[in-house]
Amino acid sequence: MGELVLAGAGHAHMMLLEAIPDIIAKGHRVTVIGPDAHHNYSGMGPGMLGGTYRVSEISFPVKSMVESRGGSFVLGKVARIDPHKHLVILESEKEVPYDVLSCNLGSYVPNVIADEGSVDIYPVKPIQNLLHALMRIQEIGSKRPVHIGICGGGPAALEIAGNAWAAAKGQSRFGFRIQIFAGGEFLHNLPDRVRSLALKILNKRGIEIVQGSYVERVATGRVTLQNGQEYAQDIIFLALGVQPPKVFADSGLPIGKDGGLAVNRYLQSIAYPEIFGGGDCIWFETEPLDKVGVYAVRQNPVLHHNVVAQLEGRSLMQFDPGGSYLLIFNVGGGKGILHKNGLSFGGPLAFWIKDYIDRKFIKRFKVHAS
Ligand SMILES: Cc1cc2nc3c(=O)[nH]c(=O)nc-3n(C[C@H](O)[C@H](O)[C@H](O)COP(=O)(O)OP(=O)(O)OC[C@H]3O[C@@H](n4cnc5c(N)ncnc54)[C@H](O)[C@@H]3O)c2cc1C
Repeated sequence: MGELVLAGAGHAHMMLLEAIPDIIAKGHRVTVIGPDAHHNYSGMGPGMLGGTYRVSEISFPVKSMVESRGGSFVLGKVARIDPHKHLVILESEKEVPYDVLSCNLGSYVPNVIADEGSVDIYPVKPIQNLLHALMRIQEIGSKRPVHIGICGGGPAALEIAGNAWAAAKGQSRFGFRIQIFAGGEFLHNLPDRVRSLALKILNKRGIEIVQGSYVERVATGRVTLQNGQEYAQDIIFLALGVQPPKVFADSGLPIGKDGGLAVNRYLQSIAYPEIFGGGDCIWFETEPLDKVGVYAVRQNPVLHHNVVAQLEGRSLMQFDPGGSYLLIFNVGGGKGILHKNGLSFGGPLAFWIKDYIDRKFIKRFKVHAS
């Protein structure tokens, strides 16, 4: 019998969560650690902000999914891993022993620009922040014009701006203003055609893009750029890129350039064969991977196979990241922008395809709480 511990219950662990009864039937024990009884599906987070989805539609009741399948769920946050004693140590100092450990701890938005104690500043992860922001947009918007600032110039900033527009529009008795503080050129990593589709939609909606100077600081009600310009805001989103949690560095485990758990082709720590990982929290040694849910989803069968194989002394399988992936951005108001290889288009059909794929993923893995 082996002790399998799953740290985090995100996208990359969905097949493992599904397989808990089979793993237990093989004589092992399964413990899942998570900071919340629910896990929100980030691909639909912006749609929740924009009012397309209710929170119940985008969340997995992970605690009940684990317990109804015979596993144990430990509510808490992983602080460190002791790879020599085979222990996961939680922030509460509780220790969880493992024979094999798989880490799916996601990523966070480093918040180094906000003044301490500031309010109404919302990093785009964790996804619950978007729900709190929506409630504030509705509250402020019911009394006066609401001013919304988005710091960041990538896809997350695009999706948040489009859906903040949808949220504010639903509350538009007093009007509203939305500004994106993109730093350098907005969406500079995306193909020209995708960028021009995005600009067209944002321009049509009156969303302003401020480029040419990075954000220096944010504080309650204010964005300050490096060039000294100040902009008054009610709600500020931070969409400044994500990075893996510090758990691995704090544990002395080998990490990659971004601080993610360094793993080999088997999604296995390069130093400790009984530790695996997937999703945004890893550094895949073979080739750096974008921080997108697509890879977390593709890693599911490999993590599933490999952690059980490691428990049973069988051979591991390699992870193949695969070729290019389908990109669809939800830009709010029932519209999307789709890009795959040379094809790009925007509009309701693009959103419809994203909505179909996202709902299918939720339906496949969700087990309703009893
Ligand atoms: C606004 C936004 C929109 C996005 N839209 C898309 C999209 O449309 N398509 C796409 O492919 N990608 C999208 N992404 C990227 C996508 O969110 C990530 O790549 C994906 O969530 C990675 O999955 P994951 O399982 O690694 O992490 P997550 O899904 O974040 O799961 C990590 C889990 O670990 C838990 N956890 C965190 N810290 C700890 C801890 N210390 N101890 C225990 N548990 C912990 C969390 O609670 C969470 O349940 C989007 C990102 C953002 C920010």
